[in-house]
Amino acid sequence: MDRLFVPGPVDVGQDVMKQMQRPMIYHRGKDFSQLLENCVENLKKIMYTKNYDFISTSSSTGLMEAAIRNCVKKRCLNVATGAFGERWHQIALANGKEADILEVEWGQAVTPEIIDDTLSKGNYDCITLVHNETSTGVSNPIYDLSKVIKRHDVCFLVDTVSSMGGVKIEVDKLGIDVCLFGSQKALGLPPGISACSVSEKALKRAETVKNRGYYFDFMVFKKYWLKKQTPSTPALPQIYALDYQLDKILKEGLEERYQRHKKLAEITRAWTKDRFELFPEEKYASNTLTCIKNSRKINVEHLKADLKKRRLLISNGYGKLREKTFRIAHMGDRTILELKELLDVIDEILVES
Ligand code: PLP
Repeated sequence: MDRLFVPGPVDVGQDVMKQMQRPMIYHRGKDFSQLLENCVENLKKIMYTKNYDFISTSSSTGLMEAAIRNCVKKRCLNVATGAFGERWHQIALANGKEADILEVEWGQAVTPEIIDDTLSKGNYDCITLVHNETSTGVSNPIYDLSKVIKRHDVCFLVDTVSSMGGVKIEVDKLGIDVCLFGSQKALGLPPGISACSVSEKALKRAETVKNRGYYFDFMVFKKYWLKKQTPSTPALPQIYALDYQLDKILKEGLEERYQRHKKLAEITRAWTKDRFELFPEEKYASNTLTCIKNSRKINVEHLKADLKKRRLLISNGYGKLREKTFRIAHMGDRTILELKELLDVIDEILVES
């Protein structure tokens, strides 16, 4: 079995995998409603929200599309600090929405001042942000950003795909209208489902937006949630796993989980600074993955191949950073011991090569 230090999917415990073998139940029956309610109740704790929470049988990209289709009526500002920020813009355009992209140099975080300034100039009713940019390892300063975004009458749509469950993101305090994430990253679950919180403001907006589509219509999600159901057939095995894993996460303790992620990140950053350079500015470096500047110009493909022989997987850089960086993810249920084992093996390989 390979050990995954790539930024999703992550390793999933055998106990969690076993949950996926539970017998199927009817998704229009009481047992399913109970299961869904349990999941939603625990998701709300992880998101610190009283908003609606919908579980979607799609990966996170589906919910990015949902957020755009339901919330953009006039014009959207897509903040891009990397590839996933650019994806928000592609989705907006592909859905025929009016949208502008605010591009920030890869490796940098977006600042509150730029956002405030850009929102003041445009006629926007939505802003999209990637909290934790998986392509660059930058964690945007969402608490500072939210203060300025609140000054504008926009729906705040946030991708927390590679941070939720590993980093504290208080949805209600931050005024996030749609906060979305997938199962296969810091939550430590298999891929296949995603979830989002949706505020009353976003739902009110959706009511007035035409062409919300069919599969991802928030109004339909809400209608079915009021019956404690999903609009279409849910991915039951994944939901069993989610239910079980959310209990496990809450038993670990949210603060403890965030501290573990912080510690994993600190170890990886210290290791990096001794041998390479951090790609992002350190104060914005992510706690769930580290993007390493290949300052020694090692052959990353060879490193990956050597690690693969030892059943360890890391990631090369994303897109245009493919040769310039490589990435080590440290999220989900990863332990400090496992991370140190990986770093020791990389050291051995670097000495040999
Ligand atoms: N957003 C971010 C920040 C991601 O890291 C990813 C995937 O890696 C996505 C969105 C897209 O997620 P998915 O491929 O699960 O749809």
